Amino acid sequence: MTNALIFGLTGQDGSYLAKFLLEKGYNVFGTFRRTSHRCFERIEDMEIFDDVIPIKADLSDHGSIQLAIRQSKPDEIYNLAAQSFVGASFQQPILTSDITGLGVLRILEAIKENSPGAKFYQASSSEMFGNYSEIKNENSPFHPRSPYGAAKVFGHNITIHYREAYKIFACSGILFNHESPYRGLEFVTRKITYALARIKFKQQKKLRLGNIHAKRDWGFAGDYVEAMWMILQQKNPDDYVIATGKSHSIEEFLDLASEYAGLGDWHEFVEYDESLDRPTDIEDLVGDSSKARKQLGWSPKLDFKELVKMMVEYDINSVKNEISPLNTEVKGSIKSE
Ligand code: GDP
Repeated sequence: MTNALIFGLTGQDGSYLAKFLLEKGYNVFGTFRRTSHRCFERIEDMEIFDDVIPIKADLSDHGSIQLAIRQSKPDEIYNLAAQSFVGASFQQPILTSDITGLGVLRILEAIKENSPGAKFYQASSSEMFGNYSEIKNENSPFHPRSPYGAAKVFGHNITIHYREAYKIFACSGILFNHESPYRGLEFVTRKITYALARIKFKQQKKLRLGNIHAKRDWGFAGDYVEAMWMILQQKNPDDYVIATGKSHSIEEFLDLASEYAGLGDWHEFVEYDESLDRPTDIEDLVGDSSKARKQLGWSPKLDFKELVKMMVEYDINSVKNEISPLNTEVKGSIKSE
């Protein structure tokens, strides 16, 4: 059996990837951070909690990373752990650099010392590109517009360095925004779909947003984890842009989401909140994933409309049935405490 170790098991991507790998017959180990609240809601909602092996580890702690690698004896390692919210990286730039940037180096060092034959996937990000050039591919220059983006550039470059210097099978997927009903509530898509569901059931009156003219290339997280796996099944390690190739503004997202929620004109309840503007933002992000489509045979299955519909329906259902939204629930016992 093949062993996989996922750093960041409990996040959106970690839970989709764990499910995907379990269906492929992998033994799935995954790291989670010790916190005072429970963090397994997503893998419980997916009904895979009993099938994965959680390991407590933190990307700021080299020893815990080493232990996770020794315990799981992985054939494949996926690094999906990060301080992943761009907005928070402006308030916590040093923490973001430590976890999202240096954390990658800690894993690579641990692989070099303990498990040099393991394949490594690094979650690189479209945030590395910034505003230059229209459609971004693997050769586009990096010009990050946030501490998060800068930390991801470091993670990306150090992954390439370990591939070249130590012959580690180390790869990056440069993933453009990918969403789902499991997206954290602080990201704009899920913030919108959850708020619309609450507005529909009269639990909330207004939705406050920042720059709604920004455009993103939004895909479905479930499709993107398949690309991560495909990247590690190639003969040679390499880097790939994963994107749908189309961007939409937040206004367009609101149009569709409001229509699916049956709420009509969103201008009636959306308010601009200046405090949500970022010191620097990226106006438009669109990716060209021709290389991945050609070499991996990957393509996204869900389109933008289907994605928005899925997220709206999930949140309407959970608000209607008074199920607490993922990420805010505190319940149950911790499996490996
Ligand atoms: P990101 O692309 O990783 O930063 O994903 P986000 O979902 O956090 O943000 C996408 C875009 O939405 C950015 O350009 C934000 O400035 C913009 N945006 C506008 N209002 C909001 C808001 O209330 N919350 C968030 N998270 N983003 C917002």
